[in-house]
Amino acid sequence: MPKMITDSEILAAYNEDALGLKGNFKGLFRPTSEQEVLEIVNDCVSEKIPLTAQGLRSSLTGAAICQKGAVLSLERMNRLIDIDVKKKRAVVEPGMIVSDFKKLVADAGLMYAPDPTSAGECTMGGNVATNASGSRSLKYGATIDWVRGLRIVDGKGRVLEVNNSSAEKMCAGYGAMYRPTQLFVGSEGTLGVVTRIEVSLTEPPANVFVGIVFFPDIKSAIDFTIEARNTSAGRVAGMEFLDQMCLEIIRPEAKGITIPPDVRAMIYFEQEYNDDSEKDYFLNRWFPLIEKHTPFSDDTRIAASPKEKKHLYDLRHLVPSKTNEESIKAVKTGGCKISTDWAVPHNRLHQLFGYFEEIRGPLGDMMVTRFGHLGSGHPHFNFMARTGEEKIIASEIDDLMAGKAVALGGCVSAEHGIGKMKRRQLTLQYPAPIIDAMKAIKKEMDPAGIMAPGNIFMDDNDDTVQLPL
Ligand SMILES: Cc1cc2nc3c(=O)[nH]c(=O)nc-3n(C[C@H](O)[C@H](O)[C@H](O)COP(=O)(O)OP(=O)(O)OC[C@H]3O[C@@H](n4cnc5c(N)ncnc54)[C@H](O)[C@@H]3O)c2cc1C
Repeated sequence: MPKMITDSEILAAYNEDALGLKGNFKGLFRPTSEQEVLEIVNDCVSEKIPLTAQGLRSSLTGAAICQKGAVLSLERMNRLIDIDVKKKRAVVEPGMIVSDFKKLVADAGLMYAPDPTSAGECTMGGNVATNASGSRSLKYGATIDWVRGLRIVDGKGRVLEVNNSSAEKMCAGYGAMYRPTQLFVGSEGTLGVVTRIEVSLTEPPANVFVGIVFFPDIKSAIDFTIEARNTSAGRVAGMEFLDQMCLEIIRPEAKGITIPPDVRAMIYFEQEYNDDSEKDYFLNRWFPLIEKHTPFSDDTRIAASPKEKKHLYDLRHLVPSKTNEESIKAVKTGGCKISTDWAVPHNRLHQLFGYFEEIRGPLGDMMVTRFGHLGSGHPHFNFMARTGEEKIIASEIDDLMAGKAVALGGCVSAEHGIGKMKRRQLTLQYPAPIIDAMKAIKKEMDPAGIMAPGNIFMDDNDDTVQLPL
C-alpha cells in the first residue's frame, strides 16, 4: 500500500481550495492505480481513518476541504485509457484535467461537451462527483448526461462497476437506478472513490460564432434571453450573463472591445451553424431580437475568427477567477465569497431577480457580482463577505434565494453541489424521507462513515468537523 505522506509542507499544498478555505488533516495518499486506492480504502476502513477524495480543489462549496483524517488525491491517476471514435466513447482515469481530456478528444475529431469555466483547473473525477456543467449546458446538459460507466471503490472496500443500459426502455426496480452511474454523479466523495470513467462523445459543431450584446438594465437582458430561448433563435449553445460590476472587472482587459459607459448588463452567446447560408439565417434572427431589446445594439460584437472568439470567451470567463482571488483575500479577515448556485426555469428569472431586490438590504455595501448561465435560468450571485459576520448575513440571503428558487420550480444547487457550505439547503430541496433514503444509501456503501465526512450531510460521527457555514 502507498505510504501515507505526513510532511507538513506537502500537506499544505492540499489544504486550500479555490475560495481560500482551509481544512485540518493528518496525511495524504497519492495512488497511481485502482489497486492502490483499494488498498488505501481497506486500510482506512480497518483503522477508521476518514478519507476525502480530491481532484484539484476547485470546489466552491468546501467539498474538497478535508477536516480530519487524510486526503486521497487522484492527481496521479490521470491517464486516458481509450478513445473509441466509432462508438463515440472514451474511458479515462479520474485525475485527468478536464481541458486536457477535451483536447485529446478534439484531436481525435470528436467533442466532450461538458465545459465548466474551470476546465483547466479541475478533474474528470471532480466533475463526476459534483455533476459539473458550464456555459454550454443550455445545449449540451451536464456531466451526468455524458457519463456511461463508472468504477468506484466504495467505503466498504468493494470495487463496483456500474454501466448504464443502452436499451431504449427499462423497468427494473426503482426508476432512480435505471442509469446506475447517476447514483454516483453528484455524490461528492461520500459513497466512494471514482477510479474510472466512461463517457459519451459527440461530433463538434461545424462552425460557431460568438456574440456579445449590451443592455441598459438587467430586466432587458433577461427579456432578451427569455425571448431568444422561447423563439429558439437557433442552436444556441449558451447564453451567459455579466452584470455591471462584472463589466467593471473585465473593462481593463477588454482590449479592442468598447464597453459603453452606461451599460448595466451583457449577454454572451454562442451560435452553432453549418455553413454560410445558415450563418446568415441565424444573424437575421439575432439582430431584430437585439434591436428590440436594447438601445446599445450598435455596440454588439459578433466574432467568427478563432482569435476574436477566444478573446470574448476569455473575457466572460475572467470574472469567476477574479472573484475567487478576492475570496482568498477575504478569508484572511474571516470572510469569503458566498456564491449562489440555485437555478430556476428560465422564464421565472424576473421573479428571482425581483425577490433579490426585496431582500438585499442586510447586505449593505457588500460587493455583489452576478454572472453566469442565464440561458439555463442559472446565474450565480456572488456575495463578497469581508468578515465572519458578513458571511452569516450573505449565507442567510443565499438561503432565502434558494428557498424562493425551489418555490419557483427550481433547485438549490445546479452545478457546484452541496459540499460543506450548503448542507442547510438540502432540506429546502427534498422532503425528509428522501434525505433519509440518501443517508441509508451512504450507510450501505460507507458504514464506517469514513468517505468525505461532512459533505452533503452533517458528519454523524463528529459534529465538530464542520466548516463554519
Ligand atoms: C474559476 C472557477 C470556475 C468554475 N466554474 C465552474 C463551472 O462553470 N461549472 C461548474 O460546474 N463548476 C465550476 N467550478 C467549480 C469546480 O471547478 C467544480 O466543482 C469541479 O467539478 C471540481 O473539480 P475538482 O477536480 O477541482 O474537484 P475537487 O474540488 O478537488 O473536489 C470536488 C468534490 O469532488 C470529490 N471528488 C473529487 N475527485 C473524486 C473522485 N475521483 N472520486 C470521488 N469523489 C471525488 C471531492 O471529494 C469533492 O467532494 C468553478 C471553480 C472555479 C475555481
